[in-house]
Amino acid sequence: MKNKILAVLAIGLMSIVFYFQTNLSQNLKTQVLININEQTNPRSNKIQNYDYAVISQTQNLIKLDRNEEKTLTIILQNTGKNSWDLSKNSETPLYIQSIFPNDTNSNIYDAKGENWQSPTLYKIQDENKKEEIKTNDTLTFQFRISSPKNPGYYKEKFGLLIQNKKLIKTETLDFDVLVKGDFSNSYSYEYTNPIMKDNYLADKEKNIQIKLKNTGKTPWYNSGDYKTYLQENTANTETELSEYKVNPGEEGTFLVKTLTPSNIGSYEKQFVFKIKNLISFDSSPVNFEMNITTKKVALTFDDGYGEIDPFIDTLDQNNVKATFFMLGCVAQNRPEQMKRIVTDGHMLANHSYNHPDFRTLPADQVLWQVEETRNIMKKITGVDVFPYFRYPYGAHNASTDSLVEGNGWKHIFWTQSTGDYQHHEDSAAGRHQTYYYATLNPPDTSIVLMHIISKSTLGALPDVIKWYRENNYAFITVDEL
Ligand SMILES: [Zn+2]
Repeated sequence: MKNKILAVLAIGLMSIVFYFQTNLSQNLKTQVLININEQTNPRSNKIQNYDYAVISQTQNLIKLDRNEEKTLTIILQNTGKNSWDLSKNSETPLYIQSIFPNDTNSNIYDAKGENWQSPTLYKIQDENKKEEIKTNDTLTFQFRISSPKNPGYYKEKFGLLIQNKKLIKTETLDFDVLVKGDFSNSYSYEYTNPIMKDNYLADKEKNIQIKLKNTGKTPWYNSGDYKTYLQENTANTETELSEYKVNPGEEGTFLVKTLTPSNIGSYEKQFVFKIKNLISFDSSPVNFEMNITTKKVALTFDDGYGEIDPFIDTLDQNNVKATFFMLGCVAQNRPEQMKRIVTDGHMLANHSYNHPDFRTLPADQVLWQVEETRNIMKKITGVDVFPYFRYPYGAHNASTDSLVEGNGWKHIFWTQSTGDYQHHEDSAAGRHQTYYYATLNPPDTSIVLMHIISKSTLGALPDVIKWYRENNYAFITVDEL
């Protein structure tokens, strides 16, 4: 009986609290909804020395007016092995810090108020004045945010830190803020694509790269309720930003996955810039011309002596994928470049371990040269370069072929030899030579042989690319020959 009365009392009390809360939030100009997303720590299944769980659970969007401030209350539970010392003289104080993945400049918010001024390092104290938080205990802290000046959508991610800024966990406290108002100054863009027209083979899965500069006043994000995306007009597909966040003044990339048409001809693709769930604002569509062709060219770069990165930079800037026939001994010394070739979508292929003339090698050496290189590249990049191989000097005969091809390798020759290894340094004559031979009467399936060692070739590369693009060749890697 006593319990029953208590229960009725409790329900009654909760209703009153709920009633007041509801009325209160209706009276507030803006509704405050906070969501704290919790994720498990991917680094370990074991109990960490320092770990935490978020107890507060509500929604994930804070809607603010301009110049509005809010105090957020967060309850954290210590789920690690160590106690948290929150005393004044603590040697291991706790902080939360704003974190943006893949963005080292993200904590820069200007004081003039164009962007969000959020605390980047916020010392945690318990509202109930607890100085020690043992395992499984909780603490309550308040956290003040002020609204960004410009209407728009903002995301913040926070992680917990201890003393020397060692991170406990990231992406656990997420705040999404929507500042209401007129979005017309907040969101705008301009094309920065150097290429708005390209050639493709029919029926291929390809990425169209669209680059847009953020000329508005608020950042763009690739996730969340108000994420930025491109919508293809006819296909109704949505393509998110490649970057997590693009600040005003920065450039964002959209890689639009598309299946190329089956018939030769010119097709116009149209994309509209959008912010999800946000009322529309004026934006003219991005037009991209897709030309379906049967002509194709593989740009190939051999050996790997010299600087590899500038070649990848130039290819990436021109939105061209190429093939790198690298030596095993080069791969060993330049693992980062090998990984970059792969992660940037180029093709890594086998050019032997140290460039001997295969015609002079005993059989076991021939096989060692190709297999050792394959193993090295696999270990570094995780990619199996089998079966694409190019003979050093292009030198081969019936007996090397029976060994190499007998083991399943396909050897790739060339149609355009630039002779660029004669020009290590950049010179007008060297650039002219590379360009001249690269574009000298190429067949409809062209393979251009170039070398990383030649700075003249690096200088000529944009013009070589331009020539092939203007002459209706689709750029391919050697697996598409
Ligand atoms: Zn070579």
